[in-house]
Amino acid sequence: MKLQNLTLTTPYLNLDPIFYHEVHPTPLKNPTLVSLNTDAANLMGLDPAKLTANELEELLNGTTLLEGSRPYAMCYAGHQFGYYVPRLGDGRAINLGLVNGWNLQLKGSGQTLYSRQGDGRAVLRSSIREYLMSEAMHALGIPTSRALALISSDEKVARERWEKGAIVLRLSPSWIRFGSFEYFFHSNQHDKLQKLADFCMAESFPQFLETEDGYVKMFGEIIKRTAETIAHWQSVGFNHGVMNTDNMSAIGLTIDYGPYAFLDTFESGYICNHTDQEGRYSFDNQPRIGHWNLSMLGRALSPLITQEKIERELEKYGEIFTAKLMELLHHKLGLASEEENDGELFRALFTAMENGRIDMTPFFRSLSHYDGDKNPLLSLTLAPNQLNEWLDLYNKRLENNPLTADERHAQMLKANPKYILKNYILQEAIDAAEKGDFTLTNDLLTLAQNPYDEHEPFARYAGITPLQRQNLKLSCSS
Ligand code: AMP
Ligand code: MG
Repeated sequence: MKLQNLTLTTPYLNLDPIFYHEVHPTPLKNPTLVSLNTDAANLMGLDPAKLTANELEELLNGTTLLEGSRPYAMCYAGHQFGYYVPRLGDGRAINLGLVNGWNLQLKGSGQTLYSRQGDGRAVLRSSIREYLMSEAMHALGIPTSRALALISSDEKVARERWEKGAIVLRLSPSWIRFGSFEYFFHSNQHDKLQKLADFCMAESFPQFLETEDGYVKMFGEIIKRTAETIAHWQSVGFNHGVMNTDNMSAIGLTIDYGPYAFLDTFESGYICNHTDQEGRYSFDNQPRIGHWNLSMLGRALSPLITQEKIERELEKYGEIFTAKLMELLHHKLGLASEEENDGELFRALFTAMENGRIDMTPFFRSLSHYDGDKNPLLSLTLAPNQLNEWLDLYNKRLENNPLTADERHAQMLKANPKYILKNYILQEAIDAAEKGDFTLTNDLLTLAQNPYDEHEPFARYAGITPLQRQNLKLSCSS
């Protein structure tokens, strides 16, 4: 289908006006298309070959509205770094409407009722990061929002320096956040809270409509999805960086990509966000924070669910998280069955990785080729004795593994990506894009979407991160 034939709907606008603010995007000066993601075009039911740069620029810049589109920003609150903020909302995101089950949202398209002191803009640097990483996460099998396209512009946006304004068109089956529920609970609008819960159920959990204890089931499902998404993060070394409850998706997706990072050398307490001085959102705190955030959601749902049932559901979180993480780590190590001491085997590996300052992604990729020759792996660690001991444990464990070596290698090469978008790699694409060259941004999209493939010309990105560019910290400014 062509873009001009697409018809959007806006079911969220059937809710009371307190839920949103209808506002048109404010266009950027001289928009240029940086990248189109044909996979996302297909999701929307569009034929990518029929899309022109010009019409995409107009769509993202808000100068053309699709049939049925009624742009709006959503109202929400949230706990930021543990403290409740009574009103946040889409300060720089504007929803266009729904098509094929995907809610289209522009990020960086100008001020809304919820912008507070903000300019409503997003800079090119952070837009490239969001655009590429959401696709990378999807390809790694991690629940996430998606992105259709990205435009840059000549609009000057003030951050620590002047930067270019940009807009990403991102997609999600739902943009409701934990903070959406918190807004109505804490402002004592419990009738509205119930309307939001009903809307959320109809939008994303229709299987629970008109069933007994539907709200409990929905809460249980949100717990499950959140726990599993965070287990995925831990398994690949993803540090989100800003797990405020307004950045937590009600359908358990990874959303709102900011100062995130993939770990380079494995550092369990790594903090990617340099404004997070206490490390609330450090890598190893993520599972605990997920639970804390869910308990804030539980509190917000307390007018609809009894305390006892909220607690009973929350108690399941740890088990769901651990089961998922174990499953993922079994895949990463090519183990086709579970054994009682596997938890210890995994813990010993992460300790050996941390002590040996091992770069996590190249290590797992190299382990995927392991045939008994320890040398390629020992060359990746500063603590070879400890890794050597761990490999002895692994060898022993492999004796009880039902897979042949070839089967194990094949499984591991599909579980351990060769390419992940580390911050230093993204920075190279950003530096080029800021000079007007979008080639690397588009090349990285291809790598991101095919992380298990070889991509010879980009082999240097699969190696150890250069020392001076390891574990960079990023600012929240975006
Ligand atoms: P974030 O930490 O990026 O999820 O943002 C937290 C809140 O601040 C959200 O309500 C955003 O919409 C809002 N916000 C962030 N940056 C801006 C901006 N430049 N202009 C307006 N609102 C913003
Ligand atoms: Mg946010």
